Amino acid sequence: MNQRIDLPTDWYLVQYMHTEAQNKPMLETKSNNLWCNFPNDIKDIDDIVVVPRPVRGDGRQQLNFTQEQLAAFRGVVIDRYDEYRSILPPKPYLDRLVKMMVDGYRSDRCYVPFFVQGVDNYGNAETCSCGGSMPMLGNVLENVDEVFNKHRSATNYDPDEKQRDCSYCMTQYEIMNLYVEGVVSKEDMLRIPSFRFGGVLDEVDRTGARLFDKGILTVSHTAS
Ligand code: SF4
Repeated sequence: MNQRIDLPTDWYLVQYMHTEAQNKPMLETKSNNLWCNFPNDIKDIDDIVVVPRPVRGDGRQQLNFTQEQLAAFRGVVIDRYDEYRSILPPKPYLDRLVKMMVDGYRSDRCYVPFFVQGVDNYGNAETCSCGGSMPMLGNVLENVDEVFNKHRSATNYDPDEKQRDCSYCMTQYEIMNLYVEGVVSKEDMLRIPSFRFGGVLDEVDRTGARLFDKGILTVSHTAS
């Protein structure tokens, strides 16, 4: 018997340079495009959010956008945001993403390691699951309390310490940064399927409040 399960699903697409698609406006080309080959007009798909991410790390040298592609990308996701709003993340995410791509470096603080804990197949806990060269926090198979307490106490990471991995980094988790900075509203967060899953946004709220209490965050997004 077939059983329907409503599983919240987000798609994260790394946007990269594709020679056959150069200069074509993204989201609008239907084959060999910069996003994906969608079988139907993506704007007609219900309840899906497509979060573009840049190529990071060494791959950027070969796969980064050309200036023309960046202009085309901006033309769709910024200038025509209202047209694509139903499938795009909150606009402040796209503003921050495009700014970083234009500047060529990240200038915003990041709180992702306080919200996300990545663990590899051997139990090694990473400082940031998006930053492969940062130190490990410990091993959850050997000492789970040590890792948990370090993470919980927000001593696992310093947002003001310049990390090489952070110099040009933006991922889907940035949306949590923008939310706890008070830039993205709760209403906009709830447009994203995974944040509608029971308890997820409550935990983000609790972590944001803890960061504010510790002085790591300077705004309290839960205060108003
Ligand atoms: S900028 Fe990227 S690598 Fe650095 S802490 Fe944030 S998510 Fe991790």
